[in-house]
Amino acid sequence: MHFEELDTDTRRWMLDEFNAEQNQKHHFEPAELNYSGRIAFPDLMRQAIEHGNIASLAASLLDASYWNPTKMYYRQGKPMTQRIDPITSAQGLAHSEFTTWYTRGMARKLIEEGITRCQVYRADPAVPPKCECASLEENTVSVDEVYGGHRAKYFPIPNQMAFSIPSSPFCHHTIRRLRL
Ligand SMILES: [Zn+2]
Repeated sequence: MHFEELDTDTRRWMLDEFNAEQNQKHHFEPAELNYSGRIAFPDLMRQAIEHGNIASLAASLLDASYWNPTKMYYRQGKPMTQRIDPITSAQGLAHSEFTTWYTRGMARKLIEEGITRCQVYRADPAVPPKCECASLEENTVSVDEVYGGHRAKYFPIPNQMAFSIPSSPFCHHTIRRLRL
C-alpha cells in the first residue's frame, strides 16, 4: 500500500483518532482476536501508527496465542465455522486496520487544515479492485463524509449502505489531498 502522506503530522492525527476511539467505552475490537490478543492489540496498533506500517503490524500480530481457533461467518444466511490461520489473519487485520487509521487520520488532518474535498485513490495498483469504491477511484469526495464514514459499514451497527473508505477488509483505497 502506498500511503502518500504518511508523515509525522499524519501519524500524530492517526494516533489522536485511535486513542479517542479506545477511550470510548463501547469501541470496536477485532472479533478474531481472543482475550489476550485484544489486550495486546491497542499497543501494537499504536506502535504501527507511530513508526510502523502494515508489514510491521502484521509481524507483531503473528503470535498464535492472540487468535481464536475459529470464527463464525454467514453463507447465504447460514452460520458457518472457519478455522483461523494466524498468518493470514494477521496480514488481513493489519491491512484493514492500518488502512482504516490512515484514512481517518488523513481526513482529520485535512479538516484541521480547513480542506473540505479530497480524492479517492487505489493505494496498491497491483491489486485488482474488488470493492465497491473502485467506482470512486480518482473521484473527489467530501472530507467530512470520509471522516464520518469510519467503520460505518460494520460498527457499531452493520449498515452495508453506508459510505465508507476503506469499504471492506480487502479494500485498497484511501484518500489523498487534491493536487492543484
Ligand atoms: Zn476500495
